[in-house]
Amino acid sequence: MNPQTPVDQIPGIGKHYAYKLKKLDIKTVEDLVYHFPFRYDDFSKIAELGQIREVGEKLSIQGNVWTIKNIRTRRGKFITVATVADESGTVEVVWFNQPYLTKNIKPGTFISLSGKVEQEGKKLKMLSPSWEIIKAPKVETTLHTGRLVPIYPETEGVTSKWLRAKISGVLPQYLKVQQDFMPEEIIKRQKLLTLDSALQKIHFPKDYRAAETARKRLSFDELFLMGYLSAKRKEEWGKTKIAPKMKIDTEKTGRLIKSLPFKLTDAQSKAVREILKDLQRKIPANRLLEGDVGSGKTVVAAIAAYVTYLNGYDVLVAAPTEILAFQHEKTIDSLLAPFGVKVGIWTGSRKQKGDITCGTHALLSTYKAEKQVGLVVVDEQHRFGVAQRAKLFLQHGRKLTPHLLTMTATPIPRTLALTLYGDLDLSVLDEMPKGRQKISTFVVPNFKRKDAYRFIEKEVLSTKQTFILTPFVEPSETMASVKAAKDEFEKLKGVFSKKVRLGLLHGRLRSKEKEKEIGDFKSGKTDILVTTPVVEVGIDIPNATIMMIESAERFGLAQLHQLRGRVGRGEQKSYCFLFTDSKSANSLRRLKSMEKVYAGFELAEIDLKMRGPGEIFGFRQSGFANLKIADLSDEVLISKAQNEAKNLIEVDPALKNHPALGKKIDALALEYAQPN
Ligand code: ADP
Ligand code: MG
Repeated sequence: MNPQTPVDQIPGIGKHYAYKLKKLDIKTVEDLVYHFPFRYDDFSKIAELGQIREVGEKLSIQGNVWTIKNIRTRRGKFITVATVADESGTVEVVWFNQPYLTKNIKPGTFISLSGKVEQEGKKLKMLSPSWEIIKAPKVETTLHTGRLVPIYPETEGVTSKWLRAKISGVLPQYLKVQQDFMPEEIIKRQKLLTLDSALQKIHFPKDYRAAETARKRLSFDELFLMGYLSAKRKEEWGKTKIAPKMKIDTEKTGRLIKSLPFKLTDAQSKAVREILKDLQRKIPANRLLEGDVGSGKTVVAAIAAYVTYLNGYDVLVAAPTEILAFQHEKTIDSLLAPFGVKVGIWTGSRKQKGDITCGTHALLSTYKAEKQVGLVVVDEQHRFGVAQRAKLFLQHGRKLTPHLLTMTATPIPRTLALTLYGDLDLSVLDEMPKGRQKISTFVVPNFKRKDAYRFIEKEVLSTKQTFILTPFVEPSETMASVKAAKDEFEKLKGVFSKKVRLGLLHGRLRSKEKEKEIGDFKSGKTDILVTTPVVEVGIDIPNATIMMIESAERFGLAQLHQLRGRVGRGEQKSYCFLFTDSKSANSLRRLKSMEKVYAGFELAEIDLKMRGPGEIFGFRQSGFANLKIADLSDEVLISKAQNEAKNLIEVDPALKNHPALGKKIDALALEYAQPN
């Protein structure tokens, strides 16, 4: 077998399942083996029925099926009832709506069951346990019961049980052909498992300790490979490209900074200094400007853009959405037009070049540079897909490579950024402009919904404004979320009095309509803007004081924080209301942390611990996609992996003595070079 064999060629998978598996990003045998469980159900205790004292505990029993039959309820549904016995007692087992079970489980067969045992009078009972047929009790290794049972990320029609069976089917062959690419000396130094052992144990561990050691090895792999690639990229970057070397006119730059309606924060001043230093070198800058929502990244970029303009070069400012591109155009124009700079716009619907041109993806497809571009600014770069994609904008370089400044509000811990974006230099705005107020945040139970509406009505009738974020259907703008927004809009018309003027904004509006909706809201023609999560990035409306979010539990905390950052931009007291139907204690606890925590960075950490890195907004799309298992808060492992990677580059730069690793790195580099 070849690790790259498409999954549809695995026995029992076929085209139909291959299509479903694509949603989990599983295309090849190797992808399937690298689809890791995110937790285990502990059914490792195999109990004797006669000894069960404590009911409600998770356990397994193994015994003989005495009887099994289907019973039809009065409502026409089926329940399947079986009696299973081991040497010490019997248990009644019940399954719902699976009448076919009587075909699979016959009286006289041995069965292994995992679940909770309940007591009904003197009888023991198991409701809907996992099951599998076995040859005899306690003599063979089970898959779905009687062990630590792996639970996987699932998708419609693809259950953990199904995945377990398929993975256990291909794993032995895969382990035979795989090659451990990690240098032996590193395995020894870091006390890692070999790759085959780690892959076996991550799926089917004997105990939690085994699962943990497997996790450590596989996490190390990811962090090591990331660290290696980014260190290499940094090396190449400086070697091969030449950028416009600029001069700083301190007098003119100082005049711009003095003209601002506010004083720069210390963090902003520091970031400006770092960026201007970059521009004075002939090595193209590749800097990440990271700062919480509202920390004032735009003005930092505008100052760098002005310096570039003064040196006679053009500037491109790329934003993920048209709305944001328009906003950047307005902001930068208001700052720089008084100094003679022409600010242009380049989107699907409006095209006009300037000395500084703001735009969307259209800058990649239809824009042709006339002059040498000296600086490319990419805002909210995670929205563009992998970080590497930002570099596509550099194609506008002509003779020289423009300096690159990417900006993000996704809070990435510094150690992590250095590993994953080791090829980037980092500036952090870790300080908010003075006078920013805390936005009072409340998780609102449904029975207080009416009160919340009444409060909103009072606020908006006294000249303030509100965002109402409609039920979140999917992360992208699908027809379903557009419909949800329209439905909510209609419903809300009945909720508020006639005096309240409502606007509706979603991603399927034409850009003229979008601009009008936002314009109306900005100018106060509408009081409430009902919207899908398209508002999430960047929109700046100082008069908006309430952000109300439906189905809040479906968002990551960092994302909720970004949304909350849409209000409280002016002087007035602002609020964020989080609505949820969720009954899960975990969800509520997560949401409640929004009431107490106001730093995006801290919220991201909480999510990291409670939901895992994949769930943090932006992480999945931000070039972290290849991190399936590494714990992004494990700074110790991150720095160990980073150091091993750097060390190896020094001792064996061409990987002459490590051909297996060389092959792995080449394959990864190729994968990263793809635009998706
Ligand atoms: P973000 O970092 O989220 O992109 P923006 O650049 O949109 O933030 O800035 C948010 C708001 O803060 C803008 O209205 C901007 O004018 C204002 N602002 C930026 N820097 C300062 C500062 N030093 N003092 C006061 N207000 C500032
Ligand atoms: Mg911004």
